[in-house]
Amino acid sequence: MEKREILIIGAGPAGLAASIEAAQTGAQVLLIDENDTPGGQLFKQIHKFFGSSKHKAGTRGINIGKQMLEQTKEVGVELWLNTTAVGTVGDKQVALVRKKEDGTSETVVVEAEEILVACGGAENAVNFEGWTLPGVMGAGAAQTMVNVRRVLPGKKILMVGSGNVGLIVSYQLMQAGANVVGIVEAAPKIGGYCVHAGKIRRAGVPVYLSHTVLHADPDENGEVKDAVIVQLDDHFQPIAGTEKKIDCDTICIATGLRPQIKISTLLGVKNGFIPELGGWMPIHDENMETNVHGIFVAGDTAGVEEASTAMDEGRLAGVSMAHQLGHLSDAEAADRKKEIVERLEALRLGPFGERRQNAKNRIVAEGKKHE
Ligand SMILES: Cc1cc2nc3c(=O)[nH]c(=O)nc-3n(C[C@H](O)[C@H](O)[C@H](O)COP(=O)(O)OP(=O)(O)OC[C@H]3O[C@@H](n4cnc5c(N)ncnc54)[C@H](O)[C@@H]3O)c2cc1C
Repeated sequence: MEKREILIIGAGPAGLAASIEAAQTGAQVLLIDENDTPGGQLFKQIHKFFGSSKHKAGTRGINIGKQMLEQTKEVGVELWLNTTAVGTVGDKQVALVRKKEDGTSETVVVEAEEILVACGGAENAVNFEGWTLPGVMGAGAAQTMVNVRRVLPGKKILMVGSGNVGLIVSYQLMQAGANVVGIVEAAPKIGGYCVHAGKIRRAGVPVYLSHTVLHADPDENGEVKDAVIVQLDDHFQPIAGTEKKIDCDTICIATGLRPQIKISTLLGVKNGFIPELGGWMPIHDENMETNVHGIFVAGDTAGVEEASTAMDEGRLAGVSMAHQLGHLSDAEAADRKKEIVERLEALRLGPFGERRQNAKNRIVAEGKKHE
């Protein structure tokens, strides 16, 4: 069995930020990720970020990822890629499956004094007739194909969901040469930020509000050839006679994310249900510590938000873990946390942010019940 002071599961923005924060205090940090490249969702995000300079506004997600990766090297974070956390063995002991260079795998158990679970989120599905046909995929999968693997998933794309992911991925597919034939949205208004919606509208993409997909139809090869969409009434019920056939070869589903809670739940962490943050999620306190002492969560695992909040939650967890291990004094930790919390609060201002801040307050209150 391997032993470390800190184990961080997931090298997305939350895990990377936490590892830098903790390792620069002198803590011994092992950061693992199941992918062959660290960065999580950041390496798909080719657009520039919003917000203030403190939140890397104006920098493309992919470049933020590269900068953070450099920092992990400078502060001595130990990084294991192609390594998946698959279960727990005992208290604070996590079973990892590591792919070796010869293509075989080995199981390694790591015991750590502090563990951060930063496994991100998983995409929600919508099940309509034909949803398992080749050509129906998550918008995240389409974004990975186009921005990371440089492969167009199809030529005529129908996007389901008009939140930020649906809007951004639609635009990126168009930049890569695909024709986005429409965006279908069950709600009566667009869910994402106006700035993303404006780009889509200017490009002339039809947005079908109060609509859903009724079924997808296969061609002679069993692949998507069209979709039938239908208008919904005020109770989200299909209105007969409003069906429209849309010619498409790919249907991307962008209907929200939910926190990945498998590993935290195996570690004994209790979950609460907060719909605004994706549903079931680990309860935690203001320091990102869960009901199990020494087990922390951050980023989308701790409630689905954005990369900027994921980074600050990761930093908060990193400082808290280093403090518990004695690498930071009470005063040093308090100073660092104050700065991070001020930034997080700034991110959660405005109508979208306020809703998220209230939801976060509810999960923290839920955590207090279990102390
Ligand atoms: C399609 C899409 C587009 C988005 N676009 C934007 C955007 O434009 N701007 C923005 O601010 N936010 C965007 N987001 C949201 C943002 O990317 C996330 O909020 C952010 O990446 C969350 O960071 P994270 O570190 O929590 O998770 P992630 O970035 O998802 O990283 C989690 C990491 O954990 C690893 N992992 C998971 N399970 C295991 C396991 N068992 N063992 C080992 N490793 C594991 C994964 O491989 C991944 O690398 C987007 C999200 C999606 C899905």
